[in-house]
Amino acid sequence: MKVTRKDFLRIAAGSVVAAGTGTLVHALSGSAPATAATVGESKQRWGMVIDLRQCRQQGECDQCIRACHQTHNVPEVPNPAHEVKWIWNEPFAKVFPFQQSEYTRQADGGTLPVLCNHCASPSCVRVCPTKATWKRGDGIVMMDYHRCIGCRYCMAACPYGSRSFNYVDPRPHLRQVNPEVPTRSAGVVEKCDFCTARLAKGELPACVEACPQGAMVFGDLNDESSPVRQLLAERYSVQRQPHLGCGPSIFYLV
Ligand code: SF4
Ligand code: SF4
Repeated sequence: MKVTRKDFLRIAAGSVVAAGTGTLVHALSGSAPATAATVGESKQRWGMVIDLRQCRQQGECDQCIRACHQTHNVPEVPNPAHEVKWIWNEPFAKVFPFQQSEYTRQADGGTLPVLCNHCASPSCVRVCPTKATWKRGDGIVMMDYHRCIGCRYCMAACPYGSRSFNYVDPRPHLRQVNPEVPTRSAGVVEKCDFCTARLAKGELPACVEACPQGAMVFGDLNDESSPVRQLLAERYSVQRQPHLGCGPSIFYLV
């Protein structure tokens, strides 16, 4: 029987699966023994601030989502159970279940964009048995589709539901293909990569550029003079489930 590299990694991961339950529980409980390994060094820590007032002014809007998904060849799979998403809209009450009063929903029945939080201490990275996902020195949590064996540990460990699994071949479900971004195959996990390819060219993330209200601001959280830091200094902000200890790099101005 021919054993492919993926098969080998899957078998190797089996032993981690047996021992890995404890790791996963640690990661989910926020009591993992060590911070997930970081690859490379950087003075920067990229982050994003989303101004919900500005976002609401646009009404029901999906321009950030369309820009992201077109840029990154994210498929539109008709079966909702097989949906793949890098950024999407969720109701406020679902995103911030502990930060609403009985009247919040009436005042704000709208939705807000959510994406990978590029966590400072990403539980997804800690549980991956093949190091297919890792954190860069600048805080961006990456995916290597060639190393991914589809075990979906990272999906179980992410408390934000930020990862999608390709249950089917995504390529037939692409309206158009951006040749600058690789397409994926069935059996791998994917998620927002903070537009690393665009950042390398000195461009802003596609969602930030597409937002008609300027509600999404991207920048260096380590730089006190950056627009993201200035906004965070001036306005009240919240992160998603900060008590879990993941340290999200996405901040919402409420
Ligand atoms: S939001 Fe989820 S997928 Fe993104 S870095 Fe944090 S734990 Fe990982
Ligand atoms: S930062 Fe880039 S990859 Fe992430 S949601 Fe925005 S457009 Fe998509």
